[in-house]
Amino acid sequence: MKEGALPLGNNFSMRSDLGTMKILHLKKRGCFLLKLLCLVVLMLIFCEFLVYYVVILQCHWPEVKIEALRSSRQSSASVLKAMFLSDTHLLGEIKGHWLDKLRREWQMERAFQTALSLLEPDIVFILGDVFDEGKWSSSQAWADDVRRFQKMFRHPVRTELMVVVGNHDIGFHYEMTPYKLKRFAKVFNFTSGKLIIRKGVNFVMVNSVALDGDGCTICSRAEAKLMKLSHKLNCSQQVREQNHSNKRCNGMEQLPASEPILLQHYPLYRRSDAECIGEDSALPEEKNIPFKEKYDVLSREASQKLLWWFHPRLILSGHTHSACEVLHNGKIPEISVPSFSWRNRNNPSFIMGSITPTDFSLYKCFLPLESRVVTIYCIAGALLGVLILAHLQLFNPPFYFAQHLIRKHKAV
Ligand SMILES: [Zn+2]
Repeated sequence: MKEGALPLGNNFSMRSDLGTMKILHLKKRGCFLLKLLCLVVLMLIFCEFLVYYVVILQCHWPEVKIEALRSSRQSSASVLKAMFLSDTHLLGEIKGHWLDKLRREWQMERAFQTALSLLEPDIVFILGDVFDEGKWSSSQAWADDVRRFQKMFRHPVRTELMVVVGNHDIGFHYEMTPYKLKRFAKVFNFTSGKLIIRKGVNFVMVNSVALDGDGCTICSRAEAKLMKLSHKLNCSQQVREQNHSNKRCNGMEQLPASEPILLQHYPLYRRSDAECIGEDSALPEEKNIPFKEKYDVLSREASQKLLWWFHPRLILSGHTHSACEVLHNGKIPEISVPSFSWRNRNNPSFIMGSITPTDFSLYKCFLPLESRVVTIYCIAGALLGVLILAHLQLFNPPFYFAQHLIRKHKAV
């Protein structure tokens, strides 16, 4: 054996020690990476899934007075649980960026599905602008938008889903065509106006885009339909109040004698959002901007017609993306339902209504704040950073850090 050479046995044992150390090191690193992965997965599960349960669990159906029992069967089961949301604006192929689309649609799908499973509404109304580009989308893009909508807003048989038309679905009055209205009607079974009766509650769904009053074919049809509905409702009301019907009501189908609830996309005429209050009302710099008739709100004339035809007890509308409560003629409340999409608001919401033929009570259910979710991601990201730095031992004081580097150098 040459001088200075190590014995063969020693050499072998050193190599095997090095091998074991390497395996241990790899194991340690693997374990650390696994911990990081777990943390990332937990954060994603919370922010993208559980957070909707945590927030929506705090919402509840409001109490409503139930009229003196007429029959022993009248109970809480006779209260209609209705959910109202608006302006989902599913992005189209022209203006929508794929990432924005993916994010917003995931958020809305999770919020809607969680609300359905926790709150179990009887009926859900979407107050228009379901799509962002229905006003100009090709038939193929429309079919794709509809397919995504049906997936996001899928619902069990016990819950009905009704959709009112909005200007982004078929275009503003000047862009609206029979073709666009027909394809909307094919999917949502809604064109001019519709009466929905559930548990003795009358809902009138209005095509407010067609209330321009210029006598266009679609507008005339919509007005004629609404007038017919109003006649039917008023006759039923008269029979109940006066216990007789006039000649014009002869042979008319009897409807529940309950004042209707109007559901439409455009709000009734109001000068601006200046009087609107609440955390989700319009921004202060936007509140005093005057509304344009037939664009931001219905014309004064169309608004008066609706009030006169239907004498509604409540109106729910969308379009403005912000919240507002207005009182028409000093007694008829109108609720502007804010947008359901996080693309339009940091704090989207929906309205929950407990409704009977004679009374109603509303509650606003707020969804997770986008800013809060982003904050959670930032905190989790910072925590991950700290863990990685600590693992690399870069948090030691400079002296130890230098020593660590020297030790590493010597080992090499
Ligand atoms: Zn709109």
